[in-house]
Amino acid sequence: MAFVNGLKCRECDREYPPEALNVCDFCFGPLEVVYDYATISEVISQDRIAKGPLSIWRYRDLLPADSDDPVDIMAGFTPLIKARNLGKQLGLNNLYIKNDSVNPSFSFKDRVVSVAATKAVEFGFDTLACASTGNLACSVAAHAARAGIRAIVFIPSDLERGKIIGAAVYGPTMISVEGNYDDVNRLCSEIADNYPWAFVNINMRPYYAEGSKTLGYEVAEQLGWRLPDHVVVPTASGAMFTKIWKGFNELACLGMLDGVESSSFGPDQNTVHHPAVTTRMHMTQAAGCAPIVTAWESGSLQVMPVRPDSIAKSLAIGNPADGIYSMRVVNKSAGTAYAVPEEEVVPGIKLLAETEGIFTETAGGVAISGLKHAVDSGAIKPDDLTVVYITGNGLKTQEAVESVVNPLTVKPFMGAFEEAFNQRGG
Ligand SMILES: *Cc1c(COP(=O)(O)O)cnc(C)c1O
Ligand SMILES: [Zn+2]
Repeated sequence: MAFVNGLKCRECDREYPPEALNVCDFCFGPLEVVYDYATISEVISQDRIAKGPLSIWRYRDLLPADSDDPVDIMAGFTPLIKARNLGKQLGLNNLYIKNDSVNPSFSFKDRVVSVAATKAVEFGFDTLACASTGNLACSVAAHAARAGIRAIVFIPSDLERGKIIGAAVYGPTMISVEGNYDDVNRLCSEIADNYPWAFVNINMRPYYAEGSKTLGYEVAEQLGWRLPDHVVVPTASGAMFTKIWKGFNELACLGMLDGVESSSFGPDQNTVHHPAVTTRMHMTQAAGCAPIVTAWESGSLQVMPVRPDSIAKSLAIGNPADGIYSMRVVNKSAGTAYAVPEEEVVPGIKLLAETEGIFTETAGGVAISGLKHAVDSGAIKPDDLTVVYITGNGLKTQEAVESVVNPLTVKPFMGAFEEAFNQRGG
């Protein structure tokens, strides 16, 4: 059984039972899962987690699923790699890459979908659906296959081939919508009102979003139960960004970090900031779709929707659901928000590939170029322990880097090889 009390409106605090709900009837605010932290603190321990499965479900005490048999294709437990070469290039001595591009469907979305799919099955839905910027469709289709239920995925029609094929191969019903993600999302919200389907990021959203907390837990565990000084996060809706922060604070409050006293959660337990959590949260978006960064830079408390025009399609949400909440996290954590110029996205991909042997998609290019900016601007100092989240796999956005392909074509003879090789300059 999950240690869940119910759902609560993030705006007016009204409480709801833990059902397939996502908005407050009263004020239309988003709902969030509320946990019974007192009971969790009695059972949870570093040791208990270490003995758990090698997936996000090792943190199941802090996830909202009741089932003992989650829909698990082994999302999570991805490598945290000390990035010596990239660190040297950027002038950082303690840089780590959280390589979430190696998840089962090749993006961090497997974390959120595993939780949402588990809840959908618990609630008795026979159809798993989503409004996707690409990676979500892949993950929903994969998890529905595993659960043995139907998948219906909605995608914008201009997606990269790698994401279309990477979803279609699992056999979902795929609806290609002539519009951008925000159009897809609007359509899906209407469909969700009329069809009894579990849309992972609509009616399952409170549960879905909790899956991203595991990106915080895992980094803390992999660093030996401590938190980094900085994290750099590519951001679309802002959900992941807020949940990494929530994960760090939950660990601190539960006494799970080395050298940190546990403390009881206050009445506003989902937004508590534990003083031991000093991680600065750096948000990155691509300039062609940076509504949250723009709002943060102007000091506004309102995120104005934009029409996306960006190479980073997985981040192309013009009307971000968690925009305001993620801005609050930037401010609370003394972080920064930066819009990476479009022409610096591919150089970011190449820099990571050439220094660390990790091939990320465009969102990862945004993260790496955003990291570089945070160092250059002085926000991150050389000895600071820094983690950059690489959330998706480069094989899905091959179009972006096609120009790197430039082989020497030779006849299969030694002489032909040497001639061509020497001509190029060896
Ligand atoms: C969806 C996605 C994100 C952003 O997630 P949000 O929670 O919507 O901010 C980041 N990177 C990749 C690769 C994604 O697919
Ligand atoms: Zn409300």
